[in-house]
Amino acid sequence: MAEDSFTPGAAVALDSAFVASTAVIEDGVRLGRGVKVWHFSQVRTGATIGDNTIIGKGCFIDEFVPIGEGSKIQNGSEIYAPASIGGGVFIGPHVVLTNDLHPRAVSRDGTVLGAADWHATGCRIDDGASLGAGSVIVCTSVGAWALVGAGSVVTRPVAPHALVVGNPARQIGWVCYCAERTEDECQTCGWRVP
Ligand SMILES: [Zn+2]
Repeated sequence: MAEDSFTPGAAVALDSAFVASTAVIEDGVRLGRGVKVWHFSQVRTGATIGDNTIIGKGCFIDEFVPIGEGSKIQNGSEIYAPASIGGGVFIGPHVVLTNDLHPRAVSRDGTVLGAADWHATGCRIDDGASLGAGSVIVCTSVGAWALVGAGSVVTRPVAPHALVVGNPARQIGWVCYCAERTEDECQTCGWRVP
């Protein structure tokens, strides 16, 4: 997608996607049908955004990150490669998905470290999962339809439908498809605790 596709001061629709004029969509990004990318967000090269996914204001989507269909990425969230995001995933405001378990800017002798000096460890967020506002996912996975409470710091894999909260996040229960805490069986969606 060429940079000259954008008209300053106007929103631009690309292949039925909506891209705010202040968003930066790098070359080699694929935006599905009905995608919306709001003001000041950056989508890096090679990222693929599934149909009807919404990326809010001020988000960062790193290189080659795949995001499935119908996901919602709220304002200010940052997703670092090599993360992968499923379909129908809810990512609340100011969520961070990290990629470095051993972060250093320099080595012991002060040499500045570059991209070749580290091995990125990405996050995986499965279909239907929800990440509460301000949560941080530290190089781990969140299972399908799990719910991460606001402000949690997730350092270990989260099981499907698990409800986790705190720092470090711990499982305190289960949630159904409606994201209601469920002790036995949800009368609305029929999901049962395993
Ligand atoms: Zn339910």
